[in-house]
Amino acid sequence: MISYFKLILFIFPLYLFCPPNKTYVKVLLTEITPHSVKTLNISSSHGIIVDTKEDGHTKRSYYFKNSVPLQIDHQTVFLNNKKIKTQHPIRINAFDGHIRYNHENYFGTFYILFHDKKIYLVNKVELEDYIYSVLRTEGWPGWPLEVNKVFAITCRSYVIKKVLEARTSKKPFHIKNSNAHQTYRGIRHNNVHKQAVDETAGIFLGYKNQPIAAMFDSCCGGISPAQINGSLAGVDFKKAPYLARKQICTHCKKCKIFHWGFELPLKEFEHRFATIVSDLENLTNITISKVDNAGLVHKLTLHYGNKKIKVVEGKKLYSLFTEVKSSVFTITKKKDNLVIKGQGYGHHLGLCQWGAWQMVKDGWNYIRILHFFYPGTTFMQLKDKESEKENS
Ligand SMILES: [Zn+2]
Repeated sequence: MISYFKLILFIFPLYLFCPPNKTYVKVLLTEITPHSVKTLNISSSHGIIVDTKEDGHTKRSYYFKNSVPLQIDHQTVFLNNKKIKTQHPIRINAFDGHIRYNHENYFGTFYILFHDKKIYLVNKVELEDYIYSVLRTEGWPGWPLEVNKVFAITCRSYVIKKVLEARTSKKPFHIKNSNAHQTYRGIRHNNVHKQAVDETAGIFLGYKNQPIAAMFDSCCGGISPAQINGSLAGVDFKKAPYLARKQICTHCKKCKIFHWGFELPLKEFEHRFATIVSDLENLTNITISKVDNAGLVHKLTLHYGNKKIKVVEGKKLYSLFTEVKSSVFTITKKKDNLVIKGQGYGHHLGLCQWGAWQMVKDGWNYIRILHFFYPGTTFMQLKDKESEKENS
């Protein structure tokens, strides 16, 4: 481990960086809206302790042998059918071992938090345990150690940025557990993932001494991020110039989703678009009406009825058809069918996972790969994380 650090220090300046609350990540598991009724399926095979402050001051602890009888009914929490009268955080800890939620094991502690008329179930987990869990769903099982190191640093950079952003927002969590941020579904043991996390512990990418928004996708399709219209794609290249990579990735071209395509009858397009366009009937064609220099489709025009047209967001095609893998595609009319052909899988920004896999096969190490995908960034290291104290 020491030799790795020396290597990085020798090649790149390694900044010490110490954001507060960095050691723990608060992950949103579920958000319960004011009028919902929900049972939370939380358990542990070695007993579970629930801490409450029912009168606002006195702490009360409850022990349950296996599962926690927790119901939420219109903003009120019921523990063992007893109403919890205050809105102080409720802490749930496994007596020993992992805590289970919806049949998945998790590291750390759960909290039920009350905020803005909603109730949140949040998992507070140590950063490196979080990264290890994220690799289960954001990584690819069986891929080499060096690729998993790339993923570990990418996911760590992203979550550290989210932790810092949460300091200025009032949300009671740092990051969502869905692909809106990074998918996180608890622990599945994997030796390569563990080694990748351990050997990169605390390392992340920074730009101007701040953690970067390390976006990544599955396959970039050889699209040039620098040519993407940032404002239309929802990314600010002035704030994140490391996402406007000029060098094109050709490393993913052998993967199956570099090119994709499908052909369906116009009637099928009409059927699906009718869910968002109320008067849609007799669809005769769909044409691309706004595309940026990189090839991302931002607007589509539906031609239907008696010379009617309707302009819709390009991403609607993505949301209505699972066959559509990215926003880079062409549409060709072929008799009564439409043929869609596209490139890449994802948003075309940041790290290309299949590209990184091929780079490792070609002898690249994780440092060189990350500098390729996030130009202008610097390797940084969380400082003295052991000395930081847990705080909720
Ligand atoms: Zn690529």
